[in-house]
Amino acid sequence: MKISMVSEHASPLAALGGVDAGGQNVHVAELSLALARRGHEVTVYTRRDDAALPDRVRTDPLLEVVHVTAGPAHNVPKDQLLPYMAEFATGIVADWGEDPPDIVHGHFWMSGLAALDAARQARTAGRQVQVIQTFHALGSVKRRHQGAEDTSPSERLMLETMVGRSADRVIATCSDEVFELKALGVPVGQISIAPCGVDLDLFMPRGPVESRGRAHRIVSVGRLVPRKGMDLVIRALRELADLGRTDVELVIVGGAGNAVRLEEDPEARRLLALAADLGVSDRVVLRGQVSRAEMPAVLRSADAVVCAPWYEPFGIVPLEAMACGVPVVAAAVGGLVDTVVDGTTGLHVPPEDPAALAAAIERVVADPDWGRRLGDDGYRRVRARYSWSRIAADTEKAYQSALGAAAPAERATARRSAARRLESTGGRAL
Ligand code: UDP
Repeated sequence: MKISMVSEHASPLAALGGVDAGGQNVHVAELSLALARRGHEVTVYTRRDDAALPDRVRTDPLLEVVHVTAGPAHNVPKDQLLPYMAEFATGIVADWGEDPPDIVHGHFWMSGLAALDAARQARTAGRQVQVIQTFHALGSVKRRHQGAEDTSPSERLMLETMVGRSADRVIATCSDEVFELKALGVPVGQISIAPCGVDLDLFMPRGPVESRGRAHRIVSVGRLVPRKGMDLVIRALRELADLGRTDVELVIVGGAGNAVRLEEDPEARRLLALAADLGVSDRVVLRGQVSRAEMPAVLRSADAVVCAPWYEPFGIVPLEAMACGVPVVAAAVGGLVDTVVDGTTGLHVPPEDPAALAAAIERVVADPDWGRRLGDDGYRRVRARYSWSRIAADTEKAYQSALGAAAPAERATARRSAARRLESTGGRAL
């Protein structure tokens, strides 16, 4: 198949950990690569956020990233990108030229708008392109949890609903999202589930382990935004201290690129002030951004990786921890309900409950043998269910369902164009 991935703000080439660069970037990068490795011809379209970026970057024989000029060629917060989506779609269609893809796959609601717009323009020119949508996060859920703090454009809920109902197929990343999509009026028969995956060649139990500053360590990883609940983990440290457990350090990973910029980050400052107020500053380390290559060593150094978000559309970090053989203490929300098996690969706790977090951390820290067993089972679980090759196969099925549901005439056109491409690539592209 010829596949266009659309990811307006989340480039697969970006550094991770900043406010708008996290799981979606990883997802688009890894899924695209896994699909290319299955023989599909994949192009990722992302917004040019730096004038110095090349137009095209080929990262694999069948995978290319295209930087589309849409709006200013510098970083713009994702909540301000909506006005540029028409220009973004036009840039995608221009790149398609006479040879549009079989599938255009939008990631996040605004990319969905651009994908629908591009497919509509192709249809007007007599070419059929099936639109697949993965939301990654839903505005309806964000609004429920963040209320007035939600900086999304006011049109988000209406446009997101329209994208969900108009796409040929919607891919949910977890079972909780299926309920949310149903509530938006997306027909259940049009929803597939394909979770996020984890790079099992990078995240594995064996390898370097960062040294600790105390007898025990917990690690929390995420963009430094309030909804990731890093403050709740700091509060849990206080609860642990009140239980007499002062030998646990907390390493928080994420945020701006280096320590100096971290000090300028309001969320980092808030967390440091909270730690000082609670008298636990001596055991809280804000590490800032950690590269992909360094991340496994940091995760392996933990007795437990703690994920305490208010809500979590999916959450790749628990998979990375499990792949490293580390148990996960997780709030029982969103995707974490599917990925972490309570009592088997980690522990679930109620959301926004520092005392429950502390109790769960204490259980793991106090019984290292049990912690190891949880870690081993987590490792087995991710290997069995969350490799990117398996996720790519699930995604391919969703693409095939969309193509299969297309009108017979559309299928004939898609088959003819696939046959032409097969000829031109010497039989490599499926
Ligand atoms: N991440 C990273 N370096 C950092 C912070 C985060 O590589 O400094 C990665 C992390 O390992 C994970 C992703 O960013 O792969 C975050 O994904 P997740 O789904 O957990 O959260 P999201 O950012 O999508 O809310």
